[in-house]
Amino acid sequence: MVNERMLGLGTARSVIRELFEYGKQRAAVVGAENVYDFSLGNPSVPAPDAVNETAIRILQENPDIIHCYTSAQGDAAVRARFADSLNRRFDAECTADQLYVTVGAAASLCCVFNGLACPGDEFIVFAPYFPEYKVFIEGAGAKMVLIPPEIEQFQIDFEAFEKAITPNTKGVVVNSPNNPSGVVYSRQTLERLAEILTAKSAEYGHAIYLISDEPYREIAFAGVEVAWLPHIYRDTIVCYSFSKSLSLPGERLGYVYVPGKVTDAGEVYAAVAGAGRSLGYVNAPSLFQQVTSLCCDMTADLKVYEENCKLLVDSLREMGYHVAQPGGAFYLFPRSLEPDDLAFSERAKQFDLLLVPGSGFGAPGHFRIAYCVQTDMIRRALPKFKALADSYK
Ligand code: PLP
Repeated sequence: MVNERMLGLGTARSVIRELFEYGKQRAAVVGAENVYDFSLGNPSVPAPDAVNETAIRILQENPDIIHCYTSAQGDAAVRARFADSLNRRFDAECTADQLYVTVGAAASLCCVFNGLACPGDEFIVFAPYFPEYKVFIEGAGAKMVLIPPEIEQFQIDFEAFEKAITPNTKGVVVNSPNNPSGVVYSRQTLERLAEILTAKSAEYGHAIYLISDEPYREIAFAGVEVAWLPHIYRDTIVCYSFSKSLSLPGERLGYVYVPGKVTDAGEVYAAVAGAGRSLGYVNAPSLFQQVTSLCCDMTADLKVYEENCKLLVDSLREMGYHVAQPGGAFYLFPRSLEPDDLAFSERAKQFDLLLVPGSGFGAPGHFRIAYCVQTDMIRRALPKFKALADSYK
């Protein structure tokens, strides 16, 4: 007899993984160059050379200590470097003791949900959303409340949002630039969100925390502002990751930032650390704590994502696809050409296009394109997108 919830999580393969596996099988039949796999969000650009050089230098200079345990909250010098970077870049007033270094954004989120959740608590999430939020929130014993998408621009349906806030609302999750839509929330959207949260916190007599999931913070296109949320809403907790900005998803490095002005900041920080302890994280990888902290002001060469985005958006719109304007990340979330996005994704397979149905992201009638791929593959895939569109005429 095993835990049923865990059994379910361990055996159910995600739609994305299914597609990825299908792609590998199909490649064996028709050749890898004839399969257009847009399923996975793995960065397609390498980490900066400085990352590898720094790792090698640290290994040569500190072979005796680099593989040791660090403080649970992360090495003090590492946290000081992250804090300095946030202060320089965002005028953040961050100190090292407000940062808790984690095994990527996934762990940052799990530490925050587990640290905050009391019995009966709810966390609000906006569709379209990263499906792991449900796993993480329910894993913390809380309930996820999903707000349906605002499908014109993928900003926020404020009417639905206001109705969903209750005295049990402990937090609200935002992810901008967004996976899967690529949309960046406008300053106007974020200010309205903050206004509502401030009013509701006062009405219910307790803080409602805004949990800002920011793995794509650095992937924003020309002229698009990714606002620094702690300046807009006091009770913001930031969950960051270097997976996408430095193209290091396998190294597992990120942090939670609990600004000092957050309600009960000291307790929240301690509870986040307690959650990390109870989840068995011990400490984030010691080598990559050092490496990321010495490279945290740089990014991988991200400009290809914007080029890929433009190529796809322009071409798809010309073919008649409806695409909300993205501002960053490396995803597009167009409308499927029939209401049933699962059927649409199945039909796309006939053209060897691997597109993820939107239902799993809480937005049926759409599909996700992860364009963190070679630009050449996109060019070769365009006639397939055209043939797919023509098949509906
Ligand atoms: N949040 C979002 C929206 C993501 O897309 C991802 C990964 O793709 C994560 C969190 C988890 O990222 P990490 O690799 O830092 O755990």
